[in-house]
Amino acid sequence: MELIDLHTHTTASDGTLAPAELVRAAHRAGLRALAVTDHDTTSGLAEALAEGEKLGLEVIPGVEITAEVGLRHSVHILGLFLDPEDEGLKEGLGRFMASRKERNPKIVAKLNELGIDITLDQVKSYAGGELISRAHFAQALVGRGAAATRQEAFNRYIGAGRPAYVPKLRLPLSETAGLIKGAGGVPVLAHPGIIELPPPALEALITRLAGEGLEGVEAYYSEHGAAMQRRLIALAARLGLVVTGGSDFHGGCKPDVRLAYGRGELRVPAGILSAIKQRRDRIRKEAR
Ligand code: AMP
Ligand code: MN
Ligand code: MN
Ligand code: MN
Repeated sequence: MELIDLHTHTTASDGTLAPAELVRAAHRAGLRALAVTDHDTTSGLAEALAEGEKLGLEVIPGVEITAEVGLRHSVHILGLFLDPEDEGLKEGLGRFMASRKERNPKIVAKLNELGIDITLDQVKSYAGGELISRAHFAQALVGRGAAATRQEAFNRYIGAGRPAYVPKLRLPLSETAGLIKGAGGVPVLAHPGIIELPPPALEALITRLAGEGLEGVEAYYSEHGAAMQRRLIALAARLGLVVTGGSDFHGGCKPDVRLAYGRGELRVPAGILSAIKQRRDRIRKEAR
C-alpha cells in the first residue's frame, strides 16, 4: 500500500528536522506525499516545497492552528493545500506570532517568580526559527534542571492550569476555518481522538463544527486506536467531511513517533488524497 503523511513539524515550529531534512526523510521512507504543518507558521514551506520539487516528492503546504470552540479545551485545526503567500493568511498568522511575542516574556516572569532562573534567550536557543512555543520552554526547563523531563515541565509549570501557564490568542473555529479557506486550503480537525470528551460529546462537537466551516477530520493518527479510526471515518462519511491522516512527527523531541508509522500501527493510505484534492478544488471555486 502506498503511504502518505499529512501532519508533520519542522524546525520552523517545534520539530527537530529542518524542512529539507524532513522532505528527504519522507522520500527515503518511500512516501507518496508529505504535508508540512508547522504550528502558526508557513516559514518552513518554501524550503520544503523546493526540496520536494528536487526529489520528485509531492509536498503539501500546510499549517496547524489552535482554535476556540467554546469548550474547556481548545482544538487544533490543520490547513492543508494552502497558499502561503495569501495576504489574509499572512495577516492572521502574524497576529498569532505577535501574541506569542507578548506571551513568552510573561511565561519567563512567572517561572522567575517560582524561583526558576531562566531567561528568554535560553529558551530561544532551543528554537530553530522565529517561533517560540511551550515545547521550547519545556526543553529549556529540562536544560536548567528545573524538570527531569519535558512532560514534567508541562505537568509542573507550563501545562494548562499550571502556575506558569499563559494563554495565547485563539480565534473561533469559524474564523480559523475562514483564514484557511481564504488561502485556498482545507480546514481539518486535528487528532480528534485526543480531545478529552466521551464519544457522544465528541461526535456532537464534530457535527457542530461541520456546520461552522470545518471540512475534514484527521481519522488516521498516531494516538488513535482502530476503533477511534473506524468511528471517525464513519462519522466523516455521515457528515460529508473528508478524511485525512498523519503522524504528527516532531523528530527527536518526540522520538517515539515515527514519520508515517506513528507509534508503529499507523498507515495512512495514499488513496485518500484524491477526495481531499476534490474538496480543495470545491473550496477554491466557492471562494471565487
Ligand atoms: P504552544 O503552542 O506554545 O502553546 O505549545 C504547544 C506545544 O507544546 C505543542 O505543539 C506540543 O508540542 C507541546 N505540548 C503541549 N502540551 C503538552 C504536554 N502536556 N506534554 C508535552 N508536550 C506538550
Ligand atoms: Mn508541537
Ligand atoms: Mn496538535
Ligand atoms: Mn501537530
